[in-house]
Amino acid sequence: MKITEIETLRTDEFSNVLWVRIHTDAGVIGLGETFYGAEAVEAHIHNTLATRLLGKDPLRIEAHARELVNLPMAQSSTGAEYRAASAIDIALWDLFGKVCNQPVHQMLGGLCHDKVRVYNTCAGYGYVRSNKIKPVDTWNLSTVEGPYEDLKGFMTDAGALAESLLEQGISGMKIWPFDPAAIENNGTFITAEQMKRAVEPFEKIRKAVGDRMEIMVEFHCLWNLPSAKKIAKVLEAYSPTWYEDPIRMNSPGALAELSASTDVWICASETLGSRFPYKDMLEAGAVQVVMTDLCWTGGLTEGRKIAALADTYHRPYAPHDCTGPVGFVAAIHSSLSNPNTLIQESVRSFYTGWYKELVTTMPRIENGYVLPMEGPGLGTELLPQVFERPDLHVRRSAL
Ligand SMILES: [Mg+2]
Repeated sequence: MKITEIETLRTDEFSNVLWVRIHTDAGVIGLGETFYGAEAVEAHIHNTLATRLLGKDPLRIEAHARELVNLPMAQSSTGAEYRAASAIDIALWDLFGKVCNQPVHQMLGGLCHDKVRVYNTCAGYGYVRSNKIKPVDTWNLSTVEGPYEDLKGFMTDAGALAESLLEQGISGMKIWPFDPAAIENNGTFITAEQMKRAVEPFEKIRKAVGDRMEIMVEFHCLWNLPSAKKIAKVLEAYSPTWYEDPIRMNSPGALAELSASTDVWICASETLGSRFPYKDMLEAGAVQVVMTDLCWTGGLTEGRKIAALADTYHRPYAPHDCTGPVGFVAAIHSSLSNPNTLIQESVRSFYTGWYKELVTTMPRIENGYVLPMEGPGLGTELLPQVFERPDLHVRRSAL
């Protein structure tokens, strides 16, 4: 079998999402995805990577994984080159599963869990929907489309939001109420008034549901170290589960200093590309929960090495979502097939909302747990109407 064509697709409406479809002479097609900078990734795939793949055996996945980032400008990052390689890698695993008529989680070694617990990232329907990526301006709170405008929920009525999640069996929620203060002060300091306002959701959650809800706190890498330490101390009273990306994720030493200053786990990081920066973080004792985004870090091939590395350091693994639908499905295959998975990120306003406008099958999430995908490969495909969209941009490189 050989690769005959590499096709990329993106839309104006969901402008962060880029899909790649790998066509073969056997007629089998693999589907992959990445997120952010879709046009830059598209250009890299066709201008640089296509010649490395066309005519090659698509099932030499490990060899391709190395070859695709064997470039001077693609060393251990989540830049466009890594995101391109990630999307292709996911497509190759989808193809492998389809060729063998098995789900991707089986191809990765089989199920380690019958189901995996999910937490809800409390984004709203419009969050990261457009290609503006600066925090706060992309919250898009006005675009209310349904019952799960959870970003507005945590900023205004976090207790009721926690109750609504618990009613669905979801006992973990991720919130980011410190972002407005970080943006306002450029992450350099936090005033007493800002601290009080940002702590309000935690008070409301604990008052409404006690300790039945786990709270993950997202900081989006916006704070300097002393401010992060100050916030970390104040929040300890509310027993959060983890602090995610509290500072820029480029200094294992600084993160280790923060980690040593608090009893709350540090979660890091969707921003890290390839296993190598994780090794530095783990060696420094800077991270307790290993988060990764498969669409950015090198795909399923690199993702399972990162999960294994975490396990080697006796740390749990927690795959990222809050990107696109195919990436979410890939993450679920990874969650289910790694022994040290703690929990899977999910966004109910996405998987009940815009994800369903794009793909045929969404994972089953029941009573706070995600179940294995069924069918060969990833177990989901782009919907036929995606190919008919007037805002669709398709580019092809062929033999
Ligand atoms: Mg995050």
